[in-house]
Amino acid sequence: MLVDEGKSNLLLDAGVKLGETDEYPLLTGEEIRKLERIVISHTHLDHMGYLPFMYARGCRATVYSTKPTHDLSQLLLADYQRINRGMKFTSNDITKAMKMWKMVEYGEVVGDGLKFSFHKSGHILGSAMVLVQGGSRLLFSSDVNDRETRLLDPAEKNIVAENLIIESTYGAPTDEHPALKNASKMLCDSINRTIKKGGKVLIPSFAVGRAQEILFILESYMSSGILEKVPIFVDGMILKANRIYRQNVIYAKDEIQKRILMSDDDPFKSKFFHAPKTKDRSDVLKPGSAIIVSTSGMLSGGPVLHYLEKLAGDSRNLLVFVGYQAEGTLGRKLIEGEKHITIDNKEIDIKMGVEQVALSAHADYKGLLDIVRSTKKLKRVFVIHGEGDKPHELGEAISRMGYEVILPRNGESFRI
Ligand SMILES: [Zn+2]
Ligand SMILES: [Zn+2]
Repeated sequence: MLVDEGKSNLLLDAGVKLGETDEYPLLTGEEIRKLERIVISHTHLDHMGYLPFMYARGCRATVYSTKPTHDLSQLLLADYQRINRGMKFTSNDITKAMKMWKMVEYGEVVGDGLKFSFHKSGHILGSAMVLVQGGSRLLFSSDVNDRETRLLDPAEKNIVAENLIIESTYGAPTDEHPALKNASKMLCDSINRTIKKGGKVLIPSFAVGRAQEILFILESYMSSGILEKVPIFVDGMILKANRIYRQNVIYAKDEIQKRILMSDDDPFKSKFFHAPKTKDRSDVLKPGSAIIVSTSGMLSGGPVLHYLEKLAGDSRNLLVFVGYQAEGTLGRKLIEGEKHITIDNKEIDIKMGVEQVALSAHADYKGLLDIVRSTKKLKRVFVIHGEGDKPHELGEAISRMGYEVILPRNGESFRI
């Protein structure tokens, strides 16, 4: 979203919509060259993956984010360059973007005229809602979670803003997440059942966010004896992301900081975690139970596909999804019951169990409405970032609460 005040401008997020064909923001070369500031809410590619393309097209804007977003973006953009099948960019374009980057703390007010500040959004480490203040105030929720997680404080509430842009990933009245405790318990029960049968558990995960939450849950339940003690293999970019999480632990909630900084009890270095030692992953796949947490989260690439190919044919094994599966992804197909798939031109029959545990990093329907309700002096709400009917369904509920609701189309402009 481009915020233009006449005298100055800023862009809220610069993402790529990943899919069978990637989709990019509708910015012209001239708009990109005229940009002064780019404010990045968090480090998922659908919020910052377009940055290198912009610097390849002559962008000279300063990029602003929190420190974890900066550190993790460097890692994720390098990986995106490797796997990207769409428009091309070079590592030099990533370097150009990183050189223009400035780090900002939560609550710090940046700029004069058109000002902005970051506020905790509870989604992943360093993630932020952005409050833009010019003639009026605009709060951009970005991806938001109103509940406390293993690692993070919930989203900040009671912010004063006349205008709100809110996501709607889980915007339908039927979207209701169980309490974190119940969801974690469900995950452990499924894993224990699989271990009893001698099977392996495969958990596809995003490298950043989901993976760390899942690993903390597994580590805690294994330490306390609720979860059977089997090796937990961590594969793909999760290992590198863990290191960055560990370095930026002061952005996690107090309890985690104290545990790590004031004792030797460091869950990131748990004895239960192992990295694969062989290139063909034969040490991970050898007979016996194990839990494997690997990228990518929606089965669109990464080592998880290799594990899936090897484990799919054995009904004792279990595939557990712990994050959102977008339309058109292999993950979504498997959740919907698909039993025959192809990986690298190989036909594969899915005989392993397939389950989904709701451990989302996004607020559910009630949570989203709570964020709207808690925003002070609010008049107008723009609903975005949802598939199918979700923005519409959330918009109807917000409209019934008495606010003006807008479902913006790509390229549309509004005066606020
Ligand atoms: Zn996100
Ligand atoms: Zn997102």
